[in-house]
Amino acid sequence: MEYPGNLFVVAAPSGAGKSSLVKALLELDAKLDVSISHTSRAPRGQEQHGREYWFVGKDEFKAMAERGEFFEWAEVHGNLYGTSRAAIEARMTHGEDVVLEIDYQGALQIKQLFPYAVLIFILPPSWEELQQRLARRGDTDPEVIAHRMENARVEVAQARHFDFVVVNAVFDTAVFDLKSIVHAQRLKYAAQRRNRSAVFYALNLP
Ligand code: GDP
Ligand code: ADP
Ligand code: 5GP
Repeated sequence: MEYPGNLFVVAAPSGAGKSSLVKALLELDAKLDVSISHTSRAPRGQEQHGREYWFVGKDEFKAMAERGEFFEWAEVHGNLYGTSRAAIEARMTHGEDVVLEIDYQGALQIKQLFPYAVLIFILPPSWEELQQRLARRGDTDPEVIAHRMENARVEVAQARHFDFVVVNAVFDTAVFDLKSIVHAQRLKYAAQRRNRSAVFYALNLP
């Protein structure tokens, strides 16, 4: 498929600030939309079906995967997560920009399928700070935190496969960095040819 919009994929170890950053980015940019994933895990706290995730049973998830309904899916912390075709295909065909907030395994699958996807990895400023954020967020069970810290080492090692790296030390700086990446993509030749077609036409640009 000829894909005319931008596809941004944001990954990070749990607690690095991915959800907060993407939320802030979406509030700043009305032209960006986040894709809502399917998951086999149970809803937490205030989470709503169709808002944070589409919550489905493990069997239903697997049936969807077998029918080829996911662009990518992966097991993360013992649960299944996937990006359904339905979640982004319609927007993609309309040339809209879409953000996927997914784990690194899913991100690398998306890059295989869509080489023009822009992969962004969010790093915490240090292991100590990551641990403190996990604790502050309310993941107080030391075992859960230890498990996430262990996973974080595996996840952070994948950052070198990404196109961009944002260090989330000062929150507003990290939001600005994300905004800059999005903005730069919109200045690429192909994007400008589409968005500024009158200028290109007037200047006889192909
Ligand atoms: P969190 O660790 O508090 O963010 O807990 P979540 O249950 O919301 O997410 C757990 C992990 O699954 C995170 O690394 C998410 O980025 C990842 N994830 C969420 N949706 C998807 C998806 O559609 N595909 C893949 N591959 N990973 C996902
Ligand atoms: P993720 O989605 O990557 O798991 P969250 O967005 O839930 O991470 O952030 C984890 C915790 O760290 C939250 O309590 C959030 O408010 C906090 N946080 C995020 N960014 C920063 C930052 N730059 N400085 C301090 N705390 C932060
Ligand atoms: P976009 O959504 O294309 O990234 O940009 C939205 C608006 O933000 C545009 O008006 C653009 O000029 C502005 N913008 C993008 N980058 C910067 C920047 O570095 N500084 C400031 N002040 N504005 C910017």
